[in-house]
Amino acid sequence: MRNLKSGESRKAGRARKGPAAQGAGPGAAGALANRPPSKGPPSKSPPSKTLPSKALLSKTPPSKAAPGLAARARGGTRPTPPDPATVRAIFARFQEADPEPKGELNYVNPFTLLVAVVLSAQATDVGVNKATSKLFALADTPQKMVALGEDQVRDCIKTIGLFRGKAKNVIALSRQLIDAHHGEVPHTREELEKLPGVGRKTANVVLNIAFHQPTIAVDTHLFRVSNRIPLAPGKTVLDVELGLERIIPPEYKLHAHHWLILHGRYVCKARKPECPRCIIADYCRSDEKTI
Ligand code: SF4
Repeated sequence: MRNLKSGESRKAGRARKGPAAQGAGPGAAGALANRPPSKGPPSKSPPSKTLPSKALLSKTPPSKAAPGLAARARGGTRPTPPDPATVRAIFARFQEADPEPKGELNYVNPFTLLVAVVLSAQATDVGVNKATSKLFALADTPQKMVALGEDQVRDCIKTIGLFRGKAKNVIALSRQLIDAHHGEVPHTREELEKLPGVGRKTANVVLNIAFHQPTIAVDTHLFRVSNRIPLAPGKTVLDVELGLERIIPPEYKLHAHHWLILHGRYVCKARKPECPRCIIADYCRSDEKTI
């Protein structure tokens, strides 16, 4: 069973709200070069099976922190993205450390990927994987899901948050896939966002993972690190998504959201960023940088 990192929040319009209101957000990837060496991962992640890459350790002595965001904010100056050469250097570091980042949600085909991401809103990847191991063994196509029925879907996923509404959405989106898409998952954001329970972030995850489109699904981790470094500062998840799309070189876009989500989840943590382990510390201009 393949896996990906989870995460979607809510339906339409949520992409325009701050990520804090969206739960843990989309997951990203699995090569996990950014995971901590000995501590277990945070609540939304399974125990790491992969030792952290030595590439996690900064190879370059971090430079003295540049003037921070708060100071610039006090002075009325808006944070700006780094110059293009720095952006390229940051993503080159991520690529070197983790060339093929993978997600952490289990799935077996685009349909089960879509269902897993829908289920992952405000739930941990571990919890979703436990629920879907049973669910996908019974139903791994829209037709089988509809045949299984809402009651059984609800029973399979009852251990995860919002399971009643999610069971309804899984059945409804399965029906819609059968009726409008011959049982296939559509390849466009527009069509994906018409499905029950699917918002911009879920659509971006599915387009990226299942169809290898260079979309950037912004979750709470990615939103934080993009503003913290800063890479593409923005007040909303959509601001950040569009800002990142503008500045990230094409060759890094496919994996960019995985790298940034993993970085935020395992290194540049919300309360206490682990700056001594950070592979891009010398490029970081955050006030919260501890080295
Ligand atoms: S971990 Fe520290 S140095 Fe690295 S990006 Fe986050 S705040 Fe900056």
